[in-house]
Amino acid sequence: MRTIQGVGVSAGIAIGAIRVLDTADHAVERRVVDDSQAEVERFRTARDTAVSQLKQLRDKTAAEFGEGKAELFDTHQLMLQDPDYVESIEDLITQSKVNAEFAVNSTAEQFAAMFAAMDNSYMQARASDVKDVSRRVINVLEGKRGGAAADDEDGESHIILAEDLAPSETVQLDRAKVLGFVTAKGSANSHTAILARTMGLPAIIGIGDAFDPADDGHTAVIDGTSGLVFVDPDEKTLAEYRGRKAKYEEHMRLLQELKGKPTETKSGQKVRLYANIGRPSDVAAVLANDAEGIGLFRSEFLYLERGDYPTEEFQFEAYKEVAQRMGDRLVVIRTLDIGADKQVGYFNLEHEDNPALGYRAIRICLTRPEIFKVQLRALLRASVYGNIAIMLPMITSVQEVRDARKILEEVKEELRGEHIDFNEHIQVGIMIETPASVIMADELAAEVDFFSIGTNDLTQYTLACDRQNPNLGRFADPHSPAVLRMIKMATEAAHRHGIWCGICGELGADLSLTDKFLEIGLDELSVSPTSVLPLRDAIRNH
Ligand code: PEP
Ligand code: MG
Repeated sequence: MRTIQGVGVSAGIAIGAIRVLDTADHAVERRVVDDSQAEVERFRTARDTAVSQLKQLRDKTAAEFGEGKAELFDTHQLMLQDPDYVESIEDLITQSKVNAEFAVNSTAEQFAAMFAAMDNSYMQARASDVKDVSRRVINVLEGKRGGAAADDEDGESHIILAEDLAPSETVQLDRAKVLGFVTAKGSANSHTAILARTMGLPAIIGIGDAFDPADDGHTAVIDGTSGLVFVDPDEKTLAEYRGRKAKYEEHMRLLQELKGKPTETKSGQKVRLYANIGRPSDVAAVLANDAEGIGLFRSEFLYLERGDYPTEEFQFEAYKEVAQRMGDRLVVIRTLDIGADKQVGYFNLEHEDNPALGYRAIRICLTRPEIFKVQLRALLRASVYGNIAIMLPMITSVQEVRDARKILEEVKEELRGEHIDFNEHIQVGIMIETPASVIMADELAAEVDFFSIGTNDLTQYTLACDRQNPNLGRFADPHSPAVLRMIKMATEAAHRHGIWCGICGELGADLSLTDKFLEIGLDELSVSPTSVLPLRDAIRNH
């Protein structure tokens, strides 16, 4: 048995076989081959295997998430069958007598560079796709698993072990087949960790050098609370953790009794208890955990899952579905918060030395209004199907709010001209997640209908601690009096102007701060669906 200490970022215990996901970039070796015809055959077989993997992935995605989300895998299959692509690889093998892996990799690099240099943003976006499908073929040639998205051939559930997982890779994980995950890198407030909590999956990050790809297929026990991983557990450990798992599940079951009960302290102070989601299918967990609304729908995940800009129609359907399923309960949809750790190839964002301080979120929307308007049209059109509110991320000034509202007004005017219905009184709020927004909270409160405090970024920017950096330890402390004072200042400013103020960052679920938040007088707390009932329990016991 090997015991590894990582950082637990999503509670729960998982016991099962490890599946190592190959997400790292590897150098591809160049070899001289004598029999180039045999090498061409080896390439063709691997290419066919990759195409059939993509076909399966396509069908699975279509069945689980709808045709729209499956389109990407159609494009990927077509790429592998593209005559120019295939010819380039086969010519390299025969003329330069190189191995298939090298020929595929060289061709991928060449095609990616060609796509990236094109004028058309659709074609530029194909650069990352061609690399992705080529990686899949190389993995097949090297006898490894397909892509990064945990496509599983054996249908078994497993614990994912990876060097690192990008948010786009995490959203593609098949939840029904994943028991939990462990990564070598990562940080507690990264979007990957947040996604694990939304998905209710036990997760551990930061195991560092203890990451060993040879653990593939071995049994493991992971405890998402303590951060412990046991590889090849002995009988005693297995028995102990089976017991703990049963206890944890019993605790979660008992919490179910709080469903339908009011979120109210013993002295009658009420707090609205909402949940955070990343995609429409998360609504099931919101309802199962009896959240009273959705306080943060991270709409950028609709963009992350795709190979190209989601259309107005695609977004409209997604927002409408969430609004309809939530009935008259409030659904706060945050406009696109792309950039920093949430990179999308087809946006072609330039490399930045400090992406968290860079071109992201509202900054992209205000400078690329053609993208912003598509989303606003979809949001407004969906607003007649439920109780939708719009929330703007990363605000630092009153001017940004006015600029965004101006674009919103233009879109409303367009819709009126087209006789398309929308909620004329839709609430517009902002995220308070920069120190500037706290300092300007009084002026900002006069412009909007609500505040929602993003403690993940607020902690990062207040303490000057990169939220992606796992080595900052005690310096990145969201309990810092500086952060808590910021929360208090923003809440008081909101109340002075008669608007409501909530928290949608991860700190909202921190039970050691629940008393403090009640004392500050926050009106709403929005947390991952699995944190709703434990938080209701804490509030009711206050
Ligand atoms: C936050 O910053 O606290 C927040 C809720 O937004 P995100 O984590 O998506 O940046
Ligand atoms: Mg944020």
